[in-house]
Amino acid sequence: MKRNVDHATEAVWAGEKAYRVHGASQVPVVNSVAYNYDDLDHWYQVAIGEEDGHIYGRNTNPTVASFEDKIKQMEGAEAATSFSTGMAAISNTLHTFLRPGDRVVSIKDTYGGTNKIFTEFLPKLDIEIELCETGNHEAMENEIKKGCRLIHLETPTNPTVKITDIERIAELAREQDALLVVDNTFATPILQNPLSLGADLVIHSATKFLGGHADALGGVLCGRKDLVEQVFHYREINGATMDPNAAYLMIRGMKTLDLRVWKQTENAGRLAEYLSNHPAVAEVFYPGLEDHPNHEIAKKQMKGFGSMFSFSLHGGMDAVKEVLPRLEFANRAANLGAVETTVGPARTTSHVESTPEERAELGIAEGLIRYSAGIESFDDLKQDLENALQALNVSNAQS
Ligand SMILES: *Cc1c(COP(=O)(O)O)cnc(C)c1O
Repeated sequence: MKRNVDHATEAVWAGEKAYRVHGASQVPVVNSVAYNYDDLDHWYQVAIGEEDGHIYGRNTNPTVASFEDKIKQMEGAEAATSFSTGMAAISNTLHTFLRPGDRVVSIKDTYGGTNKIFTEFLPKLDIEIELCETGNHEAMENEIKKGCRLIHLETPTNPTVKITDIERIAELAREQDALLVVDNTFATPILQNPLSLGADLVIHSATKFLGGHADALGGVLCGRKDLVEQVFHYREINGATMDPNAAYLMIRGMKTLDLRVWKQTENAGRLAEYLSNHPAVAEVFYPGLEDHPNHEIAKKQMKGFGSMFSFSLHGGMDAVKEVLPRLEFANRAANLGAVETTVGPARTTSHVESTPEERAELGIAEGLIRYSAGIESFDDLKQDLENALQALNVSNAQS
């Protein structure tokens, strides 16, 4: 598909036609572990990669390939390869490119699981990790200039939605011959395309917005063919393969990605605005708010500010325990990016893997609430928050 086609159209049509069979208008779920070859020479040619085809499900599968094709086109990438989860995409990518003695520069605010790879697992392999203050570009540039093999970014971050300038870091990464990997889970390809900003590789937890319905796990990596092929090889051997049923749910979910993300972004923007004027609310973090420290960078590199925000209440964790159970139109769950509004304290969602001390160091208050805006009506979501916050008996200056 040509790149001048809009994301909304790609979401529906990209990676579809080549995978259909029997005249069906939808991509089939191919539940087959292996593929039959009566012609042994053909089988051999496919096995050594000389001819197209599938051999064994750990390596490739047609439904999974259709999903990879769709996201590849939406990210404007040469190639894509998928995984059983977002964390598998991240860990397989890191393990493909890193060797003992290598140095990695990243940020303090990565997703909790990613942070654990950096602080718990990679150091055991004699890989040095430097985690910089998120959003402090000078500090990060100084660390990159000391030399590093790989830079891992996540922007916006989870849950305090901090922003890093991808283009600025990409320029230095090229100079230093370091690979720049960007976790684009929060922005989705609808709002941000890191490859067009100079990143080498982009990762998604497909579990979140791509699937969009909180019913399937998956991860995906997009980028230059020679790089993606190396990670594909690591994954086909090490085995964190996406299931074809999950791939089907991703394909189906992605058809509405554009619709969902814009609606969710509008809801998040208006709710963040509403909460920032509410007397019971201490702080609101949303890149669309003008007082967000990197609002201008977000405006430059994103088409919209996204559907994730977080906020804290004056009453701390006690107030959170009063308010969250009262929300009628929200799942209280450790997930995000679904059609349903989903809320939870950071301490039981994004940073459940961190200790209270680690969260404090990241500026994540124990009472910080992560809010993933769903596709419900804004008026209903606002009313729901208003009703729940009323339980705190704080006089509302607005009303
Ligand atoms: C959820 C998430 C991940 C991990 O994805 P899983 O599919 O749960 O393994 C990685 N990065 C970000 C930003 C996430 O939100």
